[in-house]
Amino acid sequence: MQNNSFARSGYKSSRRVYSSSQRGRKQRPNRQGGYINPEKFINKATARSEVVEYEPTHRFVDFALSDALKRNIVAKGYEVPTPIQDQSIPAVLEGRDLIGLANTGTGKTAAFLLPIINNLMAKNGQGGVLIVAPTRELAVQIDDEFKAFAKGLNLYSALCVGGANMQRQIRALARKPQFVIGTPGRLKDLVGQGALRLNNTNHLVLDEADRMLDMGFIKDIQFLIDQLPKVRQSLCFSATITPTIERLIQNILNDPVTVSVRTTETSEHVEQDVIRAYSKDEKLKMLIGMLKKPEFEKVLVFGETKWGVQRLADTLTKQGLKAAAIHGNKSQSQRQRALDAFKKNDVRILVATDVAARGLDIPNVSHVINFDQPGTYEDYIHRIGRTGRAGNSGQALTFVGGSR
Ligand code: AMP
Repeated sequence: MQNNSFARSGYKSSRRVYSSSQRGRKQRPNRQGGYINPEKFINKATARSEVVEYEPTHRFVDFALSDALKRNIVAKGYEVPTPIQDQSIPAVLEGRDLIGLANTGTGKTAAFLLPIINNLMAKNGQGGVLIVAPTRELAVQIDDEFKAFAKGLNLYSALCVGGANMQRQIRALARKPQFVIGTPGRLKDLVGQGALRLNNTNHLVLDEADRMLDMGFIKDIQFLIDQLPKVRQSLCFSATITPTIERLIQNILNDPVTVSVRTTETSEHVEQDVIRAYSKDEKLKMLIGMLKKPEFEKVLVFGETKWGVQRLADTLTKQGLKAAAIHGNKSQSQRQRALDAFKKNDVRILVATDVAARGLDIPNVSHVINFDQPGTYEDYIHRIGRTGRAGNSGQALTFVGGSR
């Protein structure tokens, strides 16, 4: 294979790939019409040890949470609150509205679930909670965490996500659960069908609000909010504050407390590099070559389209590499199975689209490989945030086009 230094000696060092002679070259935009300078895909990781450890001001026992709930927290294995939990739980317990500036992986789910569960218990389960999340997978994760915390507390949930059986969700809602957790489109449909009534829902959580707006859910969210009573407690979590989020917050929150746990970009701790491939075939060969190496232990591969992602997972499987795919053409249960297989290490490779991977908690990914480049730099940061988490070092590799 001509010009393929990867085949001989591993992928090329970025600093050589982007020699100064190539910097001025005209670059093609990616499919979404944007162009990201490939130099932005290159970074020497900074050591984790430079990060100052956060000292929480509370332990879980210090919070004004019920004993039964505290027992469930212990059973879940949480000992020390994360920064977002440390700062949000007291305010939410007081009934305040809250803006939580936090990304996935910060423990934001428990930061809203624990105090809201407690608030509902204090009212003997009267009232209700609506939790809206951008993706089915994130909603499933929230529901799983809810079930662990609400064990034995007489509080129940209905999971209302697209791509799953609607009749079953209608039956679950008919049992009048206190918690309704779902994605905007399906929740709106269920309201439209008369299966979901929100006039008694006095707690609202918008999780990953910025993602939901990016995905075009603003109208559905507004529709849902219009169904809620005016007097309620509302929490809004977002990794970024854009002008649209700002407007949303002003409309729906009342005198909110703001808690920000955004640290420096997680990407600083991720070793990032580019791989130059001259054709699609070469790109695939290089990917397969890498994935066969033992150091590529647990790899998240990003592709651009649903079909491309499925085709790539099939090709890798044919090559004897254990791979699963998650994308929007798969049913909820298929996606969940793929994610579980990856989490349990039954498969080592997960091929995903941006949308399907959003908000997922996938621990210990050794490598993120951008087989197709992301549409925006923000998507890039989101993708590579899946590696180098929680003190682990990670590596992100991005294929860029080459010209001979
Ligand atoms: P989240 O940001 O809510 O998706 O949480 C990220 C991960 O951290 C999940 O796997 C949680 O189960 C875990 N987690 C959240 N809070 C704690 C805690 N206080 N102690 C240990 N693990 C936690």
